[in-house]
Amino acid sequence: MLALRDAREPHDVLAIVARNLGFEFGRPCAAYELRDEVFRPVAASEVTSVRDPIAASSLDFDELRRHAVTRVATRDLVPVSFDGQVRALFVLESAAEPLDVEDMKFLHAIAAHAALALTTAFSFEQLRRYAAEGAALTEAARTILGFTELEPLAEALCRLALRLVHADCVGVYGRRGGRDRLSLLGRAATSERDELPADLPGDHEHALASLGKTFGDGALIATPMTFPLAGGLDHGGLMVVTRGRSGFEKVELRVIDALVTLAALALRNVELYEQSTRANRALAESNAFKDDLMAMFAHDFKGPLTVISGFAELLLETDQAEVRASAETIMAQVGRLAKLAEDALALAATQSAGFSLRREREDLAEFVREAVRNLAESKRVVVEASRPVLVPFDRARLRHVIDNVIGNALKYSASEVSVEVRRTGREAQVVIADRGIGIPEAELEKIFERFGRGSNTSRRGIAGTGVGLYIARKIVEVHGGRLDVASREDEGTTFTIGFPLK
Ligand code: ADP
Repeated sequence: MLALRDAREPHDVLAIVARNLGFEFGRPCAAYELRDEVFRPVAASEVTSVRDPIAASSLDFDELRRHAVTRVATRDLVPVSFDGQVRALFVLESAAEPLDVEDMKFLHAIAAHAALALTTAFSFEQLRRYAAEGAALTEAARTILGFTELEPLAEALCRLALRLVHADCVGVYGRRGGRDRLSLLGRAATSERDELPADLPGDHEHALASLGKTFGDGALIATPMTFPLAGGLDHGGLMVVTRGRSGFEKVELRVIDALVTLAALALRNVELYEQSTRANRALAESNAFKDDLMAMFAHDFKGPLTVISGFAELLLETDQAEVRASAETIMAQVGRLAKLAEDALALAATQSAGFSLRREREDLAEFVREAVRNLAESKRVVVEASRPVLVPFDRARLRHVIDNVIGNALKYSASEVSVEVRRTGREAQVVIADRGIGIPEAELEKIFERFGRGSNTSRRGIAGTGVGLYIARKIVEVHGGRLDVASREDEGTTFTIGFPLK
């Protein structure tokens, strides 16, 4: 009889039935739908006086449910129930005579039919809303989880709530540790006149009552939020205000719940971010302090060492063999201390944030020859550098590297050390080779670590600190180059310093 099967919208169902009823009974008829405790007309026949909303509270629902039709004043109300609730009404303008039994049966059948069609239509509507809600929340999650500061996060949360829920204004409140009132952290409103108070009583009940007073007739949700101590906050809430409605729909409540859950995650993010920023700052400060200390120590060490070695040199001139031997020991130990101080200074430099190079384009071959000339044991070193090799480098820092690597070759071998400066297709190279104690294969990488030493050095009682190569590799790498080793234990070691040629 009625083309309801294909009606997908609740409003279509109601309109079709109202039209047919009006036609069947020859009287004006309107369909009403229940929303927010009020039955409002959603479809009516053309000429009708039945258009005013009907407050749900003015109806006797038990009476409505018991009968197919209930006459109220000059109207016949036909209730449509589903989910155990009267959800819609068809309102017919009453005729003078009462409805007969056949009419009643007909209306009863129509109401049942409409209820079925409405159930289907509402399910469709619900499905559509779920899908829309899901998409909106996914987007919300993407927006909200990106924040690293509290106030912008609170603002974004309010704007989102306002978009997803039918509300007039939304605020996020939080209580800072030690205070007993909630402060407004972020707000969004559809009109400027909706001013949320800057603070509210600290406990939930009182906060709600205070907002209730401000907004009078409006409906209010205050969802408690747990702040994981972000920015010193321990507790708060999302306050949503809507005017002219007595409550929120289920789907809106669900959206708000989902937003608060998201907010808890986002707040955790903010907190973690704050913590890591704080930790980084503390680390940087303590590093800077350590670097300063090390630089100062290394620098101030040099002065007294120079004085000691000066006096030791004087003692070397004496005729007394015993004193001379002691002076020699002093000189050797001072040399070690000076090297330690230099390493410490270089180490501090590589660790400091401002570690940078002062590069100039120079002949690497001549630079290496000069470095070797200045070595105490220069006679044991053979330099092979036939052609100039021009590359940009920092003289002072590269000198440290060359001294270190050649110094090691002399220290860990007894015979000749060869140094070659050459150009390959892509690199300028300094290759330092010795035929000394070598490095155990498993320890070839370890020697570049801080304090990393080969196990064969301590076995042979050769002293060292294990920081020289760590610093050397750092310096070479800052130049954009590489420092690599090839070695065989008890046969010898070759270090290659390579700078890329562009
Ligand atoms: P140190 O020589 O003070 O121990 P380095 O960082 O300069 O510290 O060197 C780290 C380790 O690398 C040394 O302890 C040693 O085991 C190994 N090493 C470096 N150069 C050589 C070399 N030419 N021959 C053998 N071992 C070497």
